[in-house]
Amino acid sequence: MIDLHCHILPGIDDGARDLSESVKMAKKAVEQGIHTIVATPHHLNNRYENPKKSIIDRVRELNKALREEKIDLNVLPGQETRIYGELVEGFENGEILPIDQTQYVLVEFSSTHVPRYTEKLFYDLQMKGLVPVIVHPERNQEIIENPEVLYKLVDKGTLTQVTAASICGDFGKKIKSFSLKLVEANLTHFIASDAHNTSNRTFKMREAFDIVQAKYGNDMVYLFQENAEIVIEGGHVFKEVPERIKKKRFFNIF
Ligand code: FE
Repeated sequence: MIDLHCHILPGIDDGARDLSESVKMAKKAVEQGIHTIVATPHHLNNRYENPKKSIIDRVRELNKALREEKIDLNVLPGQETRIYGELVEGFENGEILPIDQTQYVLVEFSSTHVPRYTEKLFYDLQMKGLVPVIVHPERNQEIIENPEVLYKLVDKGTLTQVTAASICGDFGKKIKSFSLKLVEANLTHFIASDAHNTSNRTFKMREAFDIVQAKYGNDMVYLFQENAEIVIEGGHVFKEVPERIKKKRFFNIF
């Protein structure tokens, strides 16, 4: 199994604090049946700054440490890029690091809204040959309230990645049920861990796939797992035609 989103690099964001925690996470990942992890530290925000070059160097160091510990896990370089207006320029300047230097860029929104310029920015990214992958859309307030925003982006070629722990209900019932709706409406293409540690934000990949298997069968599990493999190979992922999520009508009974 491949995990496309994980904060396993030591000491550079809110993920693993130090090398020993990275090693613990690596062991946990192997237990889950993961053989390849994309290290995706937060790119830029008030606290961190992780440009392409430094991530690649740190991934090399971590792989070396894992070999020494005899842990059979391959770490690939990636980045969780917070959306900003100059993302295309950032890519051209060598700041932005797509997953293992393929065309797939993990893009994060704030937890509350989707910037108005997103559609235009994603179009520009696609014109550069890049494919934006929205991470954890199921945890974005605006998307939860108005899934049409996500539908429009996916309809125009954007991909999305749901967090395994969301499917397991770790972020609450509402987020769990919305995650499953995204799966059912073909509005998501990957399941990844977004693991930050081995305690409260751990992998849950096995558990999430068990839920997907029980609800939708093996084919759906394979679809997600194969898509992750295709990303690493820089190929074209499988996409079913996206559907609109029907708005639930709430009736308050007093
Ligand atoms: Fe993340």
